[in-house]
Amino acid sequence: MKVLVPVKRVVDYNVKVRVKSDQTGVDIANVKMSMNPFDEIAVEEAVRLKEKGFATEIIAISCGVAQCQETLRTAMAIGADRGILVETAEELQPLAVAKLLKALADKEQPGLIILGKQAIDDDCNQTGQMLAALTDWPQATFASKVEVVDGRVQVTREVDGGLETLSLQMPAVITTDLRLNEPRYVTLPNIMKAKKKQLDVFKPEDLGVDVAPRIKTLKVCEPPKRSAGIKVADVAALVDKLKNEAKVI
Ligand code: AMP
Repeated sequence: MKVLVPVKRVVDYNVKVRVKSDQTGVDIANVKMSMNPFDEIAVEEAVRLKEKGFATEIIAISCGVAQCQETLRTAMAIGADRGILVETAEELQPLAVAKLLKALADKEQPGLIILGKQAIDDDCNQTGQMLAALTDWPQATFASKVEVVDGRVQVTREVDGGLETLSLQMPAVITTDLRLNEPRYVTLPNIMKAKKKQLDVFKPEDLGVDVAPRIKTLKVCEPPKRSAGIKVADVAALVDKLKNEAKVI
């Protein structure tokens, strides 16, 4: 069974993002970029499925600019067997990415596609769900445990009231939550090995997908600055302020 793992190149989670002065977006010039953390978890899970003998080949996919090749090399250093870059300089929205992934799923015929539950740059939490709709495959989002049992995939999900376990027929789409696993450290020998792995490059046109944005961003701005807090003398003063100033109790 092949496993596809889409990996997005995003601003590193340690970077404090700055809004561009013309309010058209976030400044990513000279900013450290990394693999979306949820996608690292997805690659790790695919590698564990391969180590357990359920997966035969792991294919990492990234859609975006040429530098996404670095993200693919990281995925291959964790353990993906090969990479596919869908190269475009266009702004890619979740629907466009889902259509590209659907085209690649038709080509590769995987048993599973494991995505991150959300990309930490746009926080959309849409691509996996849209991909499941386009492929008409079962989906299990926010996975905290994945097991292959009797030819089906059993996924434990984190839901509001606790945990829910679903049994899905494959092929299926899974999105990862934070507690699914802890990705392994990438070792130098594996980084070197990853440099030699196969990496194919397509353009969206090669896959017959129109990636033109469907949503227009009007303005991006900083959240309002918070004013400094104060210390209150005792609980009575706190209750008084909550009641009479904040009027929340
Ligand atoms: P989002 O719906 O944008 O929050 O993204 C959810 C997941 O979709 C990510 O964690 C990735 O697994 C995948 N994804 C989104 N955008 C891309 C992209 N440009 N390239 C590869 N995978 C992506």
